[in-house]
Amino acid sequence: MYDFYKNRIKELEAHSRFRFIRNIEKKEGKYIYINGRKLLNLSSNNYLNFADDEGIVREFLNTGGDRFSFGSASARLLTGTLPVYKELEQLLCDMYKKEAALLFNSGYHANVGINSSLAGKGDVIFSDKLNHASIIDGMKLSQGKFFRYPHNDMEALERLLKRERGNFKNAVIVSESVFSMDGDIADLRKLVELKKKYNGILILDEAHAFGVFGKNGLGVNETTGVTGEVDLIVGTFGKAIGSTGAFVTGRRVLIDYLINSARSFIFSTALAPVNIAFSMWIIENKLASTYEKREKMLALGRKLGSESHIIPVIVGENDKTVELCDILFQNGYFTLPIRPPTVPAGTSRIRLSLTTDITETDMEKLCSITGLTGKETAAL
Ligand code: PMP
Repeated sequence: MYDFYKNRIKELEAHSRFRFIRNIEKKEGKYIYINGRKLLNLSSNNYLNFADDEGIVREFLNTGGDRFSFGSASARLLTGTLPVYKELEQLLCDMYKKEAALLFNSGYHANVGINSSLAGKGDVIFSDKLNHASIIDGMKLSQGKFFRYPHNDMEALERLLKRERGNFKNAVIVSESVFSMDGDIADLRKLVELKKKYNGILILDEAHAFGVFGKNGLGVNETTGVTGEVDLIVGTFGKAIGSTGAFVTGRRVLIDYLINSARSFIFSTALAPVNIAFSMWIIENKLASTYEKREKMLALGRKLGSESHIIPVIVGENDKTVELCDILFQNGYFTLPIRPPTVPAGTSRIRLSLTTDITETDMEKLCSITGLTGKETAAL
């Protein structure tokens, strides 16, 4: 009865695509301990080092964080909303100068809920080909039709809009700002221009940029100056903020619509109050003072050939990528092979993600092993 699954796993193993959960023994600042070895952690989304920092946790608990419980006991629309949830939503509205905001349990929940509900029967979604799996899953659940345009290709997007827009009622354009696997950045001004020209709604997923880009940490929308023109901005607390959960912010009418139709919001127990309070405390008290460190991290990323703190080292074949990770492991670096279906076939890679305490010196040996020069693209 299980033969199908056994064979599928064997197939994955044969193609160096089998995934397994690693035994991480300990995390300590920028280091991670695996198999008794201390390794520089280049595979973390803990960009500002707020997650698992004992000092930060203690400070949060001592400043009143210990008032919050570890269970919400209910979905938000039932009894799962305490004042702190609305306070965090209000804080996000104020930061983005938007009418409303809504918390989701994760970025995955947010993207699935938003993309599946915003476009219904007779509507259309235009999505960057490299958008995150959660956006793709949301579109698949939607009753609308979706088109995936070539990555960051604004001319191709416009051609699609020209050809297809007239065949549908509502249109949604969705893109990440900093792309999670490539570290490059969408052309936000052009996306705004196109959504206006073709009368659509623009959703921007700032998962990897929220807390990192901009003086206020709002994301690339802030550094590009288009915050007011993006209809829905999505951000996660599980990366730079070092917590868990996510939000979307925009016009009241769209947020009310999501409250009434996003099933991943409606039908899931709300995050624990302690998580909501921790996200809020980090944003209110810690984010602003990280600006210089964040800018330095981004400068190092650019020096290594990327547009952000995420640097892809594209190898191509799955087995070669796994091999290179092993070599880096032996040399004190923890990196992970990123393979299909996370990235397109033939573009397997090592995704390096910087955190603010990683220095240029930390990266020297890695650069000589991988041949990463940073002069052109971060590809071998
Ligand atoms: N969007 C993007 C672009 C992501 O990279 C991720 C996480 N890898 C998510 C959404 C999902 O966020 P979360 O981890 O909070 O579910």
